[in-house]
Amino acid sequence: MDLVLMGLPGAGKGTQAEMIIDRYGIPHISTGDMFRAAMKEGTELGMQAKKFMDAGELVPDEVTIGIVRERLAKSDCNKGFLLDGFPRTVPQAEALDNILQEMDRSIDYVIHIDVDRNKLLARLTGRRICRNCGATYHMVFNRPQQDGACDKCGGELYQREDDNEDTVANRLEVNIAQQEPLLEYYSNNGVLQTIDGNRDIGVVFQDVDELIGSLSE
Ligand code: ADP
Ligand code: ADP
Ligand code: ZN
Repeated sequence: MDLVLMGLPGAGKGTQAEMIIDRYGIPHISTGDMFRAAMKEGTELGMQAKKFMDAGELVPDEVTIGIVRERLAKSDCNKGFLLDGFPRTVPQAEALDNILQEMDRSIDYVIHIDVDRNKLLARLTGRRICRNCGATYHMVFNRPQQDGACDKCGGELYQREDDNEDTVANRLEVNIAQQEPLLEYYSNNGVLQTIDGNRDIGVVFQDVDELIGSLSE
């Protein structure tokens, strides 16, 4: 099961990804997470990525494609993967097709979680993340049992710096412009599956689960 997750910031990609990997045991590959980890470790890649990330720009395709190529070659991807945050450009999408072709495989589904724009602001400003395990919560829509603490590991919950009203509007604009040509690319390739992400988390997951489950039948 070779899967790509798409959707605007706040659509619920991280939330659905947590449930997908719990159930299907495939690795969750997020290029944003990989860049942040590299920055924390202070590696060469981290230093290359930092200047772009700090400026809110995309890291150049050749760098990003390189790390995805290396990651997909690892043995834990043998039975599948869930890509999140990649591809973000059509050249990245084309490169991904080529990488997979060399491995004699291809994308099964691009799962597009579609949410009305006017819902995204509230989702993003209420988002809280566990500092320890990365689990995602929401102050209203998905409350932790205990305020400020993660249900899974007890870790401290924090708010991402860019999850504030001032920057969200611009992030959405940029992401809409980036996503549009990719949706078209995958629609033309016949792998695009759009799921209505306006519903409750569990209801959205039922549809996601049904879709992925059909691959192993
Ligand atoms: P993304 O990874 O696409 O940016 P997240 O999974 O982090 O999105 O979700 C954004 C916020 O919205 C989080 O606080 C999450 O708990 C909440 N959320 C996710 N899915 C839903 C949903 N279906 N309904 C309401 N809130 C949701
Ligand atoms: P956001 O939800 O703010 O877009 P991500 O965690 O997905 O956060 O990405 C953080 C940053 O990492 C991006 O702003 C960009 O600089 C870099 N990045 C992540 N994925 C890619 C990609 N596929 N191509 C280029 N840059 C990327
Ligand atoms: Zn946690």
